[in-house]
Amino acid sequence: MQPSPEEIASWLRAAQRIVVLTGAGISTESGIPDFRGPEGVWTKNPAAEKTATLQYYVQDPEVRRQSWRNRVNGPYWSAEPNDGHRALVDLEHRAALDTLVTQNIDGLHHAAGTTPEKIIEIHGNVREVKCLSCAWRAPMDVALARVRAGEEDPDCPECGGILKSATISFGENLVAADLARAQAAAARADVFLAAGTSLSVYPAARLPEYALANRARLIVVNAEPTPFDDAADAVVRDRIGQVLPAIVAAG
Ligand code: NAD
Repeated sequence: MQPSPEEIASWLRAAQRIVVLTGAGISTESGIPDFRGPEGVWTKNPAAEKTATLQYYVQDPEVRRQSWRNRVNGPYWSAEPNDGHRALVDLEHRAALDTLVTQNIDGLHHAAGTTPEKIIEIHGNVREVKCLSCAWRAPMDVALARVRAGEEDPDCPECGGILKSATISFGENLVAADLARAQAAAARADVFLAAGTSLSVYPAARLPEYALANRARLIVVNAEPTPFDDAADAVVRDRIGQVLPAIVAAG
């Protein structure tokens, strides 16, 4: 039998170190589609996976042109935090939130008001643009302005290299210090909450294993099954925007 929201809330209240891992599912209620859910970008258009894969992005100018069109027209620039993001801000005020690791690149945890030092954006973010050849970086607006002015695939103003959002694509290494910090936090956690993630993108999806090795309680909030459901102390397959505020408020 699944524990009640009150019981889950009591675990959060008693915890010394809570680590939260969020994925694309926490932002769908803000109008940003996930990749693998029923309404996911890849579920509807499997070819779209190429734009998130470094090898295709580097090799194929058409993939880059498509990526820039997606960035200009994407939902990121107008999206607002939802009740799920706000519940995690509330959790920080009511309980011992240690670290919030997010696979999301949308910046909505920052926008909601979670303390920035507690957030690890393990897959980077879309607010910056970076050159794949040199160290040049700039606010994303700089590149989007060039695309809006007619450039289909803007190049690096320093070295002519390929530009990409400062996100971690498939085939690209994570920032080692961010991953180490996330793993260390998970290994110290006594409660680990995974919300809105299919737990299928590695190495982020391995973080619950670090917590379980520390005998942490594992709470999974996700609309669809995940590979960790059998190991979890609680699995809630409901809408995050309802579930998280209910759990946090019950504490
Ligand atoms: P995913 O697409 O693999 O899984 C998302 C999960 O969330 C799905 O299982 C889906 O059923 C569930 N879900 C969707 N809406 C929900 C809701 N309202 N309530 C409960 N569950 C809900 O996402 P992932 O595991 O984060 O991994 C995919 C990668 O996609 C990540 O690396 C991330 O960087 C990237 N991504 C980010 C964004 C974003 O920043 N908002 C959006 C799309 C993809």
